Parts: sequence; C-alpha cells; structure tokens
Amino acid sequence: MPIELGLLGRFGEVFQTFARLAGWAFAGVRKLLAPVFPGLAPPPGIGVPPAGGIAPAPAPAPAPAPAPPPPPAPAQALASAPRTYTVVRGDSLWAIARRELGAPHRWPEIYELNRAVIGGNPNLILPGQVLTLPGGARPAPAKPAPQPTQPAPSGKWAWPIRGRITSRFGNRPDPFTGKPDFHTGLDLAAPAGTPIKAPAAGRVVFAGPRGGYGNYVIIDHGNGLQTSYAHQSAILVAVGQHVGAGAVIGKVGSTGYSTGPHLHFEVKKDGRFVDPLAYLG
Ligand SMILES: [Zn+2]
Repeated sequence: MPIELGLLGRFGEVFQTFARLAGWAFAGVRKLLAPVFPGLAPPPGIGVPPAGGIAPAPAPAPAPAPAPPPPPAPAQALASAPRTYTVVRGDSLWAIARRELGAPHRWPEIYELNRAVIGGNPNLILPGQVLTLPGGARPAPAKPAPQPTQPAPSGKWAWPIRGRITSRFGNRPDPFTGKPDFHTGLDLAAPAGTPIKAPAAGRVVFAGPRGGYGNYVIIDHGNGLQTSYAHQSAILVAVGQHVGAGAVIGKVGSTGYSTGPHLHFEVKKDGRFVDPLAYLG
C-alpha cells in the first residue's frame, strides 16, 4: 500500500529552506565578485551582470549583449531583440514571461535559454540571477490575470485521475509502526506517467520537491480551497500559472516517501485538511 512519512517531509522542508538561503548568499557573492573575477560570471551567451556590480532593480534594460540567436520570431511586427533580466525576490518564470514577454505560457522558453544559470528546477530561481529573455513582441499593457473561477460549493469536481483507492482520508494505522496515524489525503493508485488533471480552475501556488511529498503541486482555487498533488514523476506547471478545470498539471509517480506509483491527493478548506471524497463527483 502506498505510504508517506509526514515527519520526514518536515525535515525535508527545513533542509530546503537552508539550501535556498545558501543559494541566495552564493548568488549575491558571485555577483559582487564578477567584475573582479570574470570566471565567476555566468558563461557568455547566457547573460552578463550589469556593470557596477549590484543591480538596482528589475529594470528591463534592453542590453543587446552577445546572445543566442532568437527563436523563430512569432508573426508579430515589432519584435524586440533578446535582452537580459535580473531576477528579483518573489519572481517566478511564469511571472517574468507574463510581465516581460506578455505571454505567460512562454515561461518554458526562458527556462530552456537559461538552464545553465537556473539548474534543474524551473521553480527555483534566485534573486540576482541574470536571465536572457528570448526575443519577441512585448505587448505594451500587461493584461490583468484572469480571476480563477470559483468551484461551485455544491458542485462536484472531476477526479484528478481514475485510479483505485488504496488509502482513504482520516485515521489509519501507521504503515510502519501500526500506531494510530492521520492520513491527510486520498491515495489513488495508477501507472506511473498517468496524467493528473486539475479538478477545478485555480492558480498554482507551489510546484517542486517537498520532502516526503516528492514532487508536489498546490493549486489555490479561491474561496479558501486548495488542492495538492504528491509523488509526481513530472511537474508540468509553474508557480503563478493559472490552470483551468481539466488541465494536465503533472504525471503520476513515486517520488518522495512512497512505495509505488500513486497520487496522494489532498484538499484543504480554510487551512485544514478535509476529506477529498466530499468534493469529488
Ligand atoms: Zn497518501
């Protein structure tokens, strides 16, 4: 039976926080030393830190630096040249794509261009990192993000996957110790790679590894409702992204503390875990 260990998950979160702080510190030191030790600067073609060391703000300075060739330009008249962008606190690739390119769905292009800077996790970008933005039109006014549709309180959601229920929400014996334990979600067994669909529209507020949860996604649906999806083999959304009901957000896997491919599906109402079966049709 698939299982998770919430406690080990906590340790994982603490570790991640430290790793993140260390990453920020490293990025800051690298930026300060870059003018003196060019070897510390990002490789050419990826982007050059602005002269003067400390970057003032996310000023989208159109710096035509030695940059990779732009991708096939979209059919828009006023295409801008590739340019650099300095990550600020609170940024996400989705938000940068929306603000700087006017096209949030283009965040994977930014990731591909800057893999050497960002590393393996597109959801972990650090303040001070200098990213190369792809060329392309930049619509003048950024349209306000559409409001997520609220799930009707009485309406039922479609299931995120069709799978056999292997463990229900609520009290259950701890799979290791046999002592009473509380299961925060609903386990649905399915083959690895099965697409996971958002049961309702919402906004992605977390996407990435989280301790015992493995690859984890949290979607905020408004109205105090959040759903989350653990142990994924692949995450196909980014923080800040809006998803519609039925959108594929990832794939079933067995990452984190899990003994086999399954989806651990959680629903939170006003910050408390509730029984997902109450929401599924
Ligand atoms: Zn579970």
